[in-house]
Amino acid sequence: MQAFFYFLNPKSTEMKILKFGGTSVGDAQRIRKVAQLLPEAEPCIVVLSAMAGTTNALVEIANHSSSGNVSMAIEQAKQLEARYMETSHELFNSPVFRNRGEKFTNDMFAELYRKLGCPPTKKVALEIVALGEQLSTGLFHLYLTENRIRSTYLPALEFMRIDREREPDYFYISQSLERLIKANSFTRVFITEGFICRNAKGQTDNLGRGGSDYTAAIIGNVADSEEVQIWTDIDGLRNNDPRHVVNTKPIRHLSYGEAAELAYFGAKILHPSTIQPCSEKNIPVVLKNTLQPDDPGTLIDSVYIPKGIKAIAAKKGITAITIQSSRMLLAYGFLSHVFEVFNRYKTPVDMIATSEVSISLTIDDCSNLQGIANELAEFSTVECTYDQTIVCIVGDFGANRKGYAARIFNALHEIPIRMISYGGSSNSISILVDSQSMTRTLQLLQEIVDTDVDVNLEQTANTISY
Ligand code: ASP
Ligand code: MG
Repeated sequence: MQAFFYFLNPKSTEMKILKFGGTSVGDAQRIRKVAQLLPEAEPCIVVLSAMAGTTNALVEIANHSSSGNVSMAIEQAKQLEARYMETSHELFNSPVFRNRGEKFTNDMFAELYRKLGCPPTKKVALEIVALGEQLSTGLFHLYLTENRIRSTYLPALEFMRIDREREPDYFYISQSLERLIKANSFTRVFITEGFICRNAKGQTDNLGRGGSDYTAAIIGNVADSEEVQIWTDIDGLRNNDPRHVVNTKPIRHLSYGEAAELAYFGAKILHPSTIQPCSEKNIPVVLKNTLQPDDPGTLIDSVYIPKGIKAIAAKKGITAITIQSSRMLLAYGFLSHVFEVFNRYKTPVDMIATSEVSISLTIDDCSNLQGIANELAEFSTVECTYDQTIVCIVGDFGANRKGYAARIFNALHEIPIRMISYGGSSNSISILVDSQSMTRTLQLLQEIVDTDVDVNLEQTANTISY
């Protein structure tokens, strides 16, 4: 896609995208900090999440409303409104802007109450959920205005769109964003909402929970930006889950491939879809900490540094499905039959292990499990095991490496392991354990993270790439 920021600067790659997460804009004090973190001279697009807790609250409000419990919905909306009123009161210095902040908040909540009076359709629920990002972005824009930081608000609903497959409509996004930016070419700071978008029908929709990171990456892609910065309140990615392991360390660098595996398999800091739009344009992604802005954080780019075991992540809430062919033979049609069923239910499969007569696989989205199991049962026997956890070990596991499997499984000798996936990617090894064993598994693996085995880098002469 053609870069279109030449009119701001002949070198389009000087545009930076900065995304701030919910805790980074969590209260008035934090919002002020964000303003201090904007680049001094370079043009940037700032992508904001809703204030922490807001999207959860709005989802609950929408749920109460659709289950007919409107008074409960209104009660919760009032609590949320009080929090926003307090924030907008604290945020602004002058009475004029305090009034403007309160009026803006008031108008947004009036809109919420109006929506709670409408028939509770899915469309209305999506509009309710979108209010969180609209609130934080509107307040931040006002705050910058009060502080004479010239900025332009780009409403995400005017350029961010997904197609029928719920994939970003890059052509539309690029064209629309270009038009909006050109119309404000004297601005250096642009602000927009993360997460929210329009769908193929033109209705308000979103990119899925945690999707603000994805918004930043999509904008980075269409703007051919210099860098996408994801600001949270921890020091970048850590080499294990700090909620379960005490001595974790920050990771300073990862390749796109490694980061994608970690994000997908549980590292909460980054939405898993963030990597692809950036790697496609070779745009570095930097994870930074708003509380410690001088800390280098984690850099993610195309450079791959082959070096031992780098990080561990875990994804809970996994269901394992074992499917045994009724014909007692793993004939070539069996696998395609199995995957057709998952395809029809649009359910992604994470891990797979096969044997002669059966296949085990895992899913994390169980919403269609009953339908899937019924269809599979027409040509096989099916067994589901719930409450499983995928533990993903990211590192340098190319086919010419030796010793890693022995290290990993030695470290885990006391843990019952249900499935192993090795060789699907040279960046990761995944194992499936019962969720009760998750914490222990992560702790045991911490002892071997950062270790490099004595590898013998023989080239595999019999590999051909297509
Ligand atoms: N506010 C949205 C959520 O909580 C999107 C985001 O924060 O990335 O899921
Ligand atoms: Mg997030």
